[in-house]
Amino acid sequence: APERQRWLDRLSAGLRKTSTGISQVFTGAQIDDNLYEELESALLMADTGVKATQQLLGEVKRRVQASGATRPVQVKNILIDSLTQLLKPLEKPLVIGEFKPTIIMVAGVNGAGKTTSIGKLTKHLADEGATVLLAAADTFRAAAREQLAVWADRNTVEIVSQAGGDPAAVTFDAVTAGKARGKDVVLVDTAGRLPTQMHLMEELRKIKRVVQKADATAPHEVLLVIDGNTGQNALAQVRAFDDALGLTGLIITKLDGTAKGGVIAAIATEKPVPVYFVGVGEKLEDLETFNAREFALALLQ
Ligand code: GDP
Repeated sequence: APERQRWLDRLSAGLRKTSTGISQVFTGAQIDDNLYEELESALLMADTGVKATQQLLGEVKRRVQASGATRPVQVKNILIDSLTQLLKPLEKPLVIGEFKPTIIMVAGVNGAGKTTSIGKLTKHLADEGATVLLAAADTFRAAAREQLAVWADRNTVEIVSQAGGDPAAVTFDAVTAGKARGKDVVLVDTAGRLPTQMHLMEELRKIKRVVQKADATAPHEVLLVIDGNTGQNALAQVRAFDDALGLTGLIITKLDGTAKGGVIAAIATEKPVPVYFVGVGEKLEDLETFNAREFALALLQ
């Protein structure tokens, strides 16, 4: 489809800044220690992290030997295959419909692209024919509420919001309204930063408990939005939010920018939470499902 191609182009353009570093490794005449050393530093430079880098290198060397490859370009193809295999377990579609409504809690530190991603996700779900209700549970920042209302408008979906309200109350109201109004999905936007005296993870756990109180089967999904540009710090965020909330999926944003992309390999190796979507721009349609092979090709080809 043309949209898929457009996405791939944006992803490749975004990742090219790093991938040129990796591609250059394969321009020499032979496969030798020097090539592997350069590959190791290029992978580390791309935020792949020590563990995933060692794992990939080991796998590539093994496959190169087994195949009897003699040309660097063959190593590159083997690397593409190895990375695809490493990332494959992260490929998973977001499935709705088992519960009505499906309650999706969305978390992420400020600036990660959480609100934008909720707007895009709303469109994605609406395009699939689902009715969506938004819950503005980040009541700490007026701007967050206003921004979510803009995305609700753009998608012409309903929003439960309350100036100066309490996040728990807004969440409870929204889940209850979602059920009463027969919505397919309730998307709960949560705070990414709190007034300094408050503890973010505590507050998020509280929202999760309120969701459970309003619907004993929920939340059905707990998503974390991470900025693809934050490198190894993204992995730390995945760990911290998973410990606090039990994540079911990730949305990785800004892969159209200067993202290094390798952090997905680090996530696959150290904290394999499925990547439901990747963001490749600021507009409504700039969200795509994650595909391991396409990603490996965009990063390495
Ligand atoms: P929040 O604080 O986590 O809710 O972050 P926002 O949704 O407000 O996004 C922060 C900034 O990142 C905004 O300027 C967005 O337009 C931008 N942004 C979000 N997702 C993407 C993306 O996938 N690509 C690019 N280039 N920018 C993005």
